[in-house]
Amino acid sequence: MALIVHKYGGTSMGSTERIRNVAKRVAKWVRAGHQLVVVPSAMSGDTNRLLGLAKEISERPSPRELDMIASTGEQVSVGLLSIALQAEGLEAVSYAGWQVPVKTDSSFTKARIESIDDARVRADLAAGKVVVVTGFQGVDPEGHITTLGRGGSDTSAVAIAAAMKAAECLIYTDVDGVYTTDPRVVPDARRLKSISFEEMLEMASLGSKVLQIRSVEFAGKYRVPLRVLSSFTPWDIPLDEEASSGTLISFEEDEKMEQAVVSGIAFTRDEAKITVVGVPDTPGIAYQILGKVAEANIDIDVIIQNVSHDGKTDFSFTVNRNDYARTLELLEAKVVPALGAQKVVGDPKICKVSIVGIGMRSHSGIASTMFRCLAEENINIQMITTSEIKTSVVLDEKYMELAVRALHKAFGLEEPRG
Ligand code: ASP
Ligand code: MG
Repeated sequence: MALIVHKYGGTSMGSTERIRNVAKRVAKWVRAGHQLVVVPSAMSGDTNRLLGLAKEISERPSPRELDMIASTGEQVSVGLLSIALQAEGLEAVSYAGWQVPVKTDSSFTKARIESIDDARVRADLAAGKVVVVTGFQGVDPEGHITTLGRGGSDTSAVAIAAAMKAAECLIYTDVDGVYTTDPRVVPDARRLKSISFEEMLEMASLGSKVLQIRSVEFAGKYRVPLRVLSSFTPWDIPLDEEASSGTLISFEEDEKMEQAVVSGIAFTRDEAKITVVGVPDTPGIAYQILGKVAEANIDIDVIIQNVSHDGKTDFSFTVNRNDYARTLELLEAKVVPALGAQKVVGDPKICKVSIVGIGMRSHSGIASTMFRCLAEENINIQMITTSEIKTSVVLDEKYMELAVRALHKAFGLEEPRG
């Protein structure tokens, strides 16, 4: 018997029919002798609908009220799921975040979980109940309802699994696992049976949207075994088969079944490139440029500074595409005149493509395979950045799909044929 957390996404909770299926699946686990905490998202589309209502009334709704509204989607879900579980003949009880409580800070619409009191949930489990807890929401020190940011139910589930020291956290979703890359771009992308936690962190932060990145960080910090699997398999498949399906996000690198050097190709269109041209090459320029950007709370990703000519250099970096206009304005107003730079130019039509794999730590020549592959496709690399387990290149957006396909092939990641 083990304590297991199940998380069901919005599509899996998308109709009362689907909620009944979730209840049947949960019942199968309970009848096999496990203790279950279930964390559902709002029914698909609900959070958007709720936030849309607020925007109909005001262009700048108060974040506290937005959380009051958005959190109700999950409250409906837990109630409906509890009823469905009871209809299956199980004892079940639902809780909102504040009832557990799931304690967060007060950053409305993007709150961070600070602690979870497990006493109430434990008592219910001991009494033989299935406990259904809202995803996405918590309560701040003053008792206000908070939400954890879009996609936050993943983080709720992992945090609850960590607090309860659950044996595993199963994330049931509308895809059947984590793939070597997005199958919409590369049709023969392969599902990974396992991926290390560090690789998953890179894949999630580089644009693979299977899990909210914070949930992966949480899983790493508290060493919660995580599995991503499909909620669209028939609910009555054998439990053993279900329990080993999908993708395991593991901590045991050595036990990794697939010892590929590169595990996946991630990509994102979310960035924009900015270059400050003709900056005097003197100590402190990086600080004078990027310090101003950071002060405005704009995150910087890739950075390069060119060799200087005649005491002048060009300085380029990328920011989130949403921050592009604001960053240009800020540089033009504050940095160019102060530094005596020539001008600022930018390009929002870029993409970032990355190869990720823990095998890169112990193998050399991986990055050069990447560069050769891009060269053969005649794709110009604008910027390069590396870490121990990834190499990223910034490219013209129009080459994104070509680059991803070529790299996927160059590293032999496709589904074996035949
Ligand atoms: N319902 C929330 C959202 O749509 C949280 C979640 O689904 O994870 O973002
Ligand atoms: Mg999600």
